[in-house]
Amino acid sequence: MSSENTFNTEDRSMVPFFIKQKISIERGEGVYAWDEEGGQYLDFTSGWGVTCIGHANPVIAEALAEQSGKIIQNPNSGLTYSPARAKLLDLLGRVLPKNLTRVFFASSGAEANDAAIKLARKVTGRLDIISTHQSFHGRTISTASATGQASHREKFNPLMPNNLFVKFGDLTDLEKALTKDAAAFILEPIQGEGGVIVPSGKYLNDAAALCHRNGTLMIIDEIQTGFCRTGPMFVTGSIGLEADILTMAKGIAGGFPFGAFAMTEEVAAKIDIGDHGGTYCGNPLGCAVSHAVINYLVTNNVSENVERVGKFAIETMNGWQDQFPELITDVRGKGLLLLIEFRDDATAGRISSKCLEKRLFVRQTQGNGIRIFPALNITGDEMAEGLNIIREAITETAG
Ligand code: PLP
Repeated sequence: MSSENTFNTEDRSMVPFFIKQKISIERGEGVYAWDEEGGQYLDFTSGWGVTCIGHANPVIAEALAEQSGKIIQNPNSGLTYSPARAKLLDLLGRVLPKNLTRVFFASSGAEANDAAIKLARKVTGRLDIISTHQSFHGRTISTASATGQASHREKFNPLMPNNLFVKFGDLTDLEKALTKDAAAFILEPIQGEGGVIVPSGKYLNDAAALCHRNGTLMIIDEIQTGFCRTGPMFVTGSIGLEADILTMAKGIAGGFPFGAFAMTEEVAAKIDIGDHGGTYCGNPLGCAVSHAVINYLVTNNVSENVERVGKFAIETMNGWQDQFPELITDVRGKGLLLLIEFRDDATAGRISSKCLEKRLFVRQTQGNGIRIFPALNITGDEMAEGLNIIREAITETAG
């Protein structure tokens, strides 16, 4: 096939949910990807925060080959035991916050959040789900209902009832919503899709205390921030946050569709046989890949790389803000979840298009932002290569 054939087939046959970039990606390696004609691109999106250990990392290929040569899906699915699953559970037990001792699996982030919301209602016997304005929790009906961005909700009415929204970072607003009907407060520890909004650690810990006092479960959505994206394995563990449920996906298996949620013994004790399940939940193939990815993150001290390369990137971008104050209104983020905010949507659009012309993928976010979230094992030189392209694009736009 050529790119042209691929464009024609996809455009003719797919449900058109996206305005697509006319690039047909055939393969990748590390932070690079190649189109069908061999054109090379630098990927600062890691497939939307997913390919945390780079494209085509051999440890994933090896885990896939080894496990698929043994078994992909167990007889009777989750009703039988799996050594691949047990191995992953052991490793997760070592990296998860200590109070979150019980784990179950999913195939995506939305599915993990959907389960967390459903189970919070069951466990508390309450109905209200509180979430934050600008949040993103997924595209199923329950997770879209809990998503604080109207564009993801308003076309699908009636949504799930009993969803309330509070201002991210505002404890007074949260306190008002914490009635005796509040089953759960779901939030991202750093809002990703909402524009890389970093709250204070104090806000998150104080919010947990308020929730616990009210008998409301705190669900921390680490689907974008987990697995070293911001430096530490989880934001939750790094600030000693006492979540009741933590949801995971994206980086958990480096691009293989997989997710999970972890909970405390107290929450798990209120769950009964039959409350949840799913054909692929904890499928041995997904578990083997996830184990390979998390093991790579731990043994290669990827967390340290994220801190170092992230610091270099944010310092460089802060310099641009001083140089182009008429274009850049903010630079923010943590680790390798970063955003440059421009004066308006058109400027961010122009700069991201220029980056793509120069063969760098970035993600325009919330209109006026450009989000940078590359593979977490990116080298300093690769980061510098991409930053040079963005600076060129900004300079051309300023001129
Ligand atoms: N939660 C957060 C914080 C996310 O960033 C996303 C996806 O971007 C989701 C949930 C949904 O995950 P998925 O697309 O795997 O369903």
